[in-house]
This record gives sequence, structure tokens and C-alpha cells, in this order.
Amino acid sequence: MEKRWDVIVVGLGIMGSAAAAALARRGVRVLGLEQHAPFHAQGSSHGKTRIIREAYFESPEYVPLVQRAYVLWQELAERTGRPLLRITGGVSIGRPDSPFITGARESALRHGLPHELLDAEQAGQRFPALAVPGEFVALVEGRAGILFAEECWRAFSEDATRHGAELRFGVAVRSFGAEGDGVFVEADGERLLAERVVITAGPWAPVVLSELGLPLTVRRVLVVHVLPHQPELCTPDRLPIFLLDVPEGEYYGFPLLPEQGVKFGRHDSGEPCTPETARRTVSNEEVRWMTSILERYVPGAAGSVLMSVTCLYTMTPDAHFIVDRHPRWPQVVFACGFSGHGFKFAPTIGEALAELALEGGTRLPIGFLRKDRFGTTQ
Ligand SMILES: Cc1cc2nc3c(=O)[nH]c(=O)nc-3n(C[C@H](O)[C@H](O)[C@H](O)COP(=O)(O)OP(=O)(O)OC[C@H]3O[C@@H](n4cnc5c(N)ncnc54)[C@H](O)[C@@H]3O)c2cc1C
Repeated sequence: MEKRWDVIVVGLGIMGSAAAAALARRGVRVLGLEQHAPFHAQGSSHGKTRIIREAYFESPEYVPLVQRAYVLWQELAERTGRPLLRITGGVSIGRPDSPFITGARESALRHGLPHELLDAEQAGQRFPALAVPGEFVALVEGRAGILFAEECWRAFSEDATRHGAELRFGVAVRSFGAEGDGVFVEADGERLLAERVVITAGPWAPVVLSELGLPLTVRRVLVVHVLPHQPELCTPDRLPIFLLDVPEGEYYGFPLLPEQGVKFGRHDSGEPCTPETARRTVSNEEVRWMTSILERYVPGAAGSVLMSVTCLYTMTPDAHFIVDRHPRWPQVVFACGFSGHGFKFAPTIGEALAELALEGGTRLPIGFLRKDRFGTTQ
């Protein structure tokens, strides 16, 4: 008799691993399929750290979702005994009318989040590593911090297998579809059957979900790690996670961490590509550009480059995620288009995908992430 799973999860990046764990903890039979090795560096979830923040400039609608994530990250840390989250506070720098400032402020006011708005001089005194231009302001929030990304990814994987999930690596899914009320998934010549399938394919989603015609663009993004000349100014107690909205673009960074130096990344640009065509090395010119921006706005963190890394964003036109059910096959649910800011929400997205798959709906307020906001073809 062919084994029938309750749920098959396709793609075990941070979102698929979170979904597999959330499903397995509900006692259902879960099979996770991943084309690459565990914790690989080909997609969007690799690297040691990610930012978590609450005064959410992208939209106030994300605040309840990230607040749920804080709770779930804490529970996962307790269950696995892994250090997943460090609160450092956060500072966003920009002109008073920058979306980084106005959006974060709107979220903070709408949800009653403690925050401060500092002028350039006050920000420079509070955070001596920063050089804030006179006409800029700084929004400071207390609960932002660092997620230890690789630990988080390992924790979900461990949590899923500890609750009975089977995770298979090096297995590429070729196709999926409805099979009666259930689904079939074809992978490496095997036809697998299940009641439901969860698709979390990251930058491969344009291919895996091609028939849905989702407006997704994959972009290559850059990160540099720098060993600061003034480390004493960059420790987590003196430099929190930071976001910069400056004339040269949108950037983000972390305080000085062991083996990491100061991590500094660009958020707002990157050449369109696919996972197969992406340029995986960073040119000297790109490194020079990144360090020049760091020297201009975070001179306290300027220093020698430790390493540079590329990674992939999967962008939607409005930079909001897509979490939804397949229009023709409700037994298929998917999440993609995390647009460079999804990691912090992974436990909440995992929970929502589990509820969508098992109950056909979720109480989590994710209505604004539905695909039909794009008037998609399917
Ligand atoms: C440089 C960088 C910095 C970031 N910083 C932050 C941050 O500070 N805070 C934050 O919240 N977010 C941040 N993000 C965004 C966040 O990391 C992503 O939103 C998140 O990792 C997306 O996870 P995912 O599981 O959707 O994608 P992925 O990790 O790419 O997972 C998709 C998986 O599906 C697998 N797959 C695809 N197709 C198939 C198939 N056919 N068969 C089997 N397996 C398949 C892939 O191999 C892959 O493992 C950042 C992203 C980058 C790139």
C-alpha cells in the first residue's frame, strides 16, 4: 500500500521548516522535501543573523503578526534550548518624511508601541558610531533585535523531526496537483500522495507556482561584514540594529558580533535574476560602494572587510508577502514573495500555513497577504 501523508511540505527554507514544525506539533504525518542540502546557501534563509523589529514601517498590519512571532520564537527557543533572539533595540534613520520614519511611527502609534523620535544631534550622542545628517531624524524602538538565523533554521528542523516529521534533502519536486480530494507530488521519479501540500519554494516560486502567474521578481542582494576600527562604539549595548533610508538607498546593519564583525546590507536594489543565473560573488567595486556608505553614515563601524555575501530576495510589486490557498485546488496552500523581510515572521507564517492546510482558514490576520490583491490571472 502506497504510504499516504497528511501534509507534504515542498521547500525547507525557514518558511517550510517552520510550517513542517507547526504541522508536526499538531500530530499530523508530515513529509518535507528539499532539493538542496540542509541549511544550504542557495536561497534566502542562509547567514547567521536577521533583524526582528516591531514598529513596522512596511505596514501597521504586520504588527500583530510580528508580535505573535516574538511569542513563538521564545517558545521554540525554550523547546530546543537554542539561543534564537537577542533584543538590542533598533534605530531607523531618515528624513522626517521617509517611509522608514513615518511608517514606523504610524505602526508605533496605532499599536501603542514605545518609541522615541530623536533629532540628528540627539541620535549622534546616543549612538556615537552613527553620523546622522543634520536634516535627518532617528526613530528608536525598544524591542527590535537580532535573530540568530542559522540557529532558528536548525531549531525548526529539529522541532519538526522531534515531533515525527520526515525531512528528505536532495529531493527536487517536479510537479504537484490534485488527486481526488488530496494531492500528488512527483519528486525524483516517485509519486507521493497526501491530503494537503504546502509550497514554500522561495526564489524558486516563480517556477514551482508558474501556473498561478504571480507577480514575483527574484533579486540578488549584497551583504558585507566589516571588522570596525572602533569596536568599542559598535557593541550591542552602544549600537542597536539599524536601518538607513538615505539618498544612496536603503540599508540595514547589525552591531558587532563574534565572527561576524558588523554586518551591513543593501535592501532596496539588486539585479534581477533566477537562482540559477544569480551572480554568487561580490565584486570589489560593490564592496567599495558598500563600505563607502558605511563610512559615511556609520563611521564608527568603518574598518576592514571580513567577508561579503550574496543572497536572494523574492519581490512582489508592493513588497508584501503572498500567503494563500491555490484558487483551483484548496488542498494546496503556499507562501512566497517575502520581499527581503520575511524571516522574522517565520513562526507565524508556519502557524498560518498549518491552519490553512488543516482547517481551510486561519484566525491570524493575514487577509492583506492574499494573492488576489494583484488581480492575478488564476
Ligand atoms: C541578505 C538578506 C537579508 C535579509 N534580512 C532579513 C532580516 O533582517 N529580517 C527579516 O525578517 N528578513 C530578512 N530577509 C528575508 C528572509 O531571509 C526571507 O524572507 C526568508 O528567508 C524567505 O524564506 P523562504 O523559506 O521563503 O525561502 P528559502 O530559504 O529560499 O527557501 C525555499 C526553499 O525551497 C526549496 N525548493 C525550491 N524549489 C524546490 C523544489 N522544486 N523541490 C524541492 N525544494 C525546493 C529551495 O531549495 C529552498 O531551500 C533577508 C533576506 C536576505 C536574502
